[in-house]
Amino acid sequence: MPSHTYTRQLPVGEPTDVLVVGSGPSGLGAALAAARNGASVRLVERFGFLGGNLTAGLVGPCMTSFSLDGTVQLVRGIFDEFVRRMVRVGGAVHPSETRSGSPYSGFMVYGHEAVTPFDPEAAKMVALDMCEEAGVELLLHTFVADALTEERRVTGVVVGNKSGLGVLPATTVIDCTGDGDVAARAGAGFDLGRDGDGRMQPMTLFFRVGDVDDDAVRAYQDAHPDERFPFQGLVEEAGADGSFTLPRRGIQLFKTLEPGVWRINTTRVLGLDGTDAGDLTTGEITARRQVVELMRFFRDRLPGMRNCKLLDTAATIGVRETRRVRGEHLLTLDELTSGRSFEDTIAVAGYPVDIHSPTGPNGPFDDGIPPTANIYEIPYRSLVPRDLDNLLLSGRCVSATHEALAAIRVMPPSFAMGEAAGVAAALARRDGVLPRAVDVPELQRLLLAQGAYLGPRFESAALR
Ligand SMILES: Cc1cc2nc3c(=O)[nH]c(=O)nc-3n(C[C@H](O)[C@H](O)[C@H](O)COP(=O)(O)OP(=O)(O)OC[C@H]3O[C@@H](n4cnc5c(N)ncnc54)[C@H](O)[C@@H]3O)c2cc1C
Repeated sequence: MPSHTYTRQLPVGEPTDVLVVGSGPSGLGAALAAARNGASVRLVERFGFLGGNLTAGLVGPCMTSFSLDGTVQLVRGIFDEFVRRMVRVGGAVHPSETRSGSPYSGFMVYGHEAVTPFDPEAAKMVALDMCEEAGVELLLHTFVADALTEERRVTGVVVGNKSGLGVLPATTVIDCTGDGDVAARAGAGFDLGRDGDGRMQPMTLFFRVGDVDDDAVRAYQDAHPDERFPFQGLVEEAGADGSFTLPRRGIQLFKTLEPGVWRINTTRVLGLDGTDAGDLTTGEITARRQVVELMRFFRDRLPGMRNCKLLDTAATIGVRETRRVRGEHLLTLDELTSGRSFEDTIAVAGYPVDIHSPTGPNGPFDDGIPPTANIYEIPYRSLVPRDLDNLLLSGRCVSATHEALAAIRVMPPSFAMGEAAGVAAALARRDGVLPRAVDVPELQRLLLAQGAYLGPRFESAALR
């Protein structure tokens, strides 16, 4: 490809202790935790509102924040506070009140205990309120396009927005872009896709439908308990007679708080790379055409959906998987299935490995991957990139294998990882050390004191 050298003097913003890039679940956790622990924090987000996939992606419900068996709430701290505040404004149901197999869980049983249905508008406002109360400085409508480095340090990021180009310097940067954009631009090593062929999980554009007859949808599911995915029989029938085809084995639909309104997680675009703008464009166009096809299929063939209407589509296609930045520890499937203990555990989760096939109609949960432990641990070292000293990772771009990431990528663990990264960045500032050198027992103590849960091993520590 031809290239062009471009030299320009850029304005440099006021430095902050911590710069969080991306305001999805992990960015919110990171920014709030860092600010509450005394750091000056700037949160940069490309959209004009906060929330990432919680809002822009229309993704929901939040998958389980409980153990796999649904008995113990594992993700607490900022996530729980966020949910309770949405509940207070009528914008969520607390996960302790939802059960697997129910409409809120999309009739799924495995891994679907204690999900959190929520309203994306409530998420936007609660996120904004919490950031303002914590003193987080927001910079919206701003895309981070590059990173400036000196040896192993990120000295600042290059942003583009309506004001033009600029540089934002910070002592510590937390990459919560989902795609590891900052880490990659700063030269950190990363992996893309599964071992063998490098293929990534498909993209999906969420949309919402209204005027659904909730009782009729439920009656169909009750009458077909053997179908692994909702409406699987009808999808297969339509596939066989050629009237509808999509690389899916059923319809993934989740009831929202509004009667007659469901979120649909069913478009599927295979073979694309979410770090490539051309592929993202193809994904958006293809998925939007799939929405039209799905609406036709719903009205023609699905009980309870004959009169349904399209309410909205997400502001962006959802990208399940891109860069997994190489960190000090690579979290593996074995570690999740065995429930391995780590000395530097900073979060626990119970959501199983959820892979939508990168190449075909399967998934999730029909790929023979063994169940994860009832409670598994995430170590701090998976948030610490191997190649950079003052950057932390959080959320979807942390150091994990394709399989392990497919479990920890969901929104509650992303909040928990963000909270840990934020506390770690503030602790590094307090102690005058690099994030990779923070006192881990002190990090764990602070997390526990602030309401996080790190598993049964840490229960007595939490009481001290
Ligand atoms: C189709 C799909 C279905 C899913 N289903 C569920 C589900 O039902 N329940 C669940 O709990 N999880 C689900 N997930 C997983 C979950 O949504 C994500 O893995 C999770 O949101 C990751 O959080 P994050 O903060 O790392 O990233 P994100 O939520 O993606 O947030 C990243 C933020 O960074 C911003 N950003 C990115 N790059 C830049 C940049 N260069 N400059 C400035 N800003 C930037 C984005 O705008 C965004 O706000 C699903 C994901 C997808 C894609």
